[in-house]
Amino acid sequence: MQDLIERAAQTIRTARKTVALTGAGISAESGIPTFRDPGGLWDRYDPEEYATIEAFHRDPGKVWRMMKDFTELKTALPNPGHFGLAHLEQLGLLHCIITQNVDNLHQAAGSRDVIEFHGNMRQVVCLSCRKMLPLEEISLETLPPYCGCGGVFKPAGVFFGEPIPSHALYRSQDEAQSCDLILVIGTSAVVYPAADIPRVAKEAGAQVIEINPKHTDLTDWLADLIIQEKAGIAIPQIIAAIKAIAS
Ligand code: NAD
Repeated sequence: MQDLIERAAQTIRTARKTVALTGAGISAESGIPTFRDPGGLWDRYDPEEYATIEAFHRDPGKVWRMMKDFTELKTALPNPGHFGLAHLEQLGLLHCIITQNVDNLHQAAGSRDVIEFHGNMRQVVCLSCRKMLPLEEISLETLPPYCGCGGVFKPAGVFFGEPIPSHALYRSQDEAQSCDLILVIGTSAVVYPAADIPRVAKEAGAQVIEINPKHTDLTDWLADLIIQEKAGIAIPQIIAAIKAIAS
């Protein structure tokens, strides 16, 4: 493992432009369940009933009650994986993060350039006037919550059946095409179009480093370097190795 960590450190140090694609796995060590791992969110809630835009329109109160139960999203704090990526950005070694996560933990760790591919569940959007507010600023005493204009508020994460925000989609594609290294961290790489980002980067000539304790769809055919370890362990080790090379 140490050899892989040192190779990753050397690759990051010498890359011209590194971007990271993160998924639910990087927040697992913060106590937020992933979707597809055993005991994950899809074991607790049927996505057809809670995570599609049709389900929201059918019964917004039911989706909001699930959200209220999902207390981990409100209480979670960043872990060493999030802090490590923020530190890499400060060192000038990470251009931006494209995240599939909706938990705001990269920003809470100090990362400045975060592309939220699937929106942010810590914010709400009015389906009538499109006003956006932080979740903390609305009352959840009666559900669903309503905006002053009479429209219903929806969590601002992207539900299945909704389009990816166009600025996030286009910028992610640009970053994938123009980077020469992509770190793919904690994603099962099965939700499209996010799962396509590593392929776009690879076809444009980038190297791919995967950090994930488990085998994924990318492991065999796309990754140049595979670190089968938790993000919260591997990322701090890579940073320590970068600093050791530099000293
Ligand atoms: P996923 O549940 O499909 O896959 C999670 C991956 O993380 C798995 O491959 C797993 O092996 C890996 N993993 C588990 N623990 C890890 C760790 N400690 N370090 C590194 N990797 C670890 O999640 P996904 O690929 O992100 O699926 C995409 C969807 O999940 C997106 O739509 C996203 O919005 C949503 N999601 C987000 C959150 C969040 O915001 N925290 C939580 C659950 C799901």
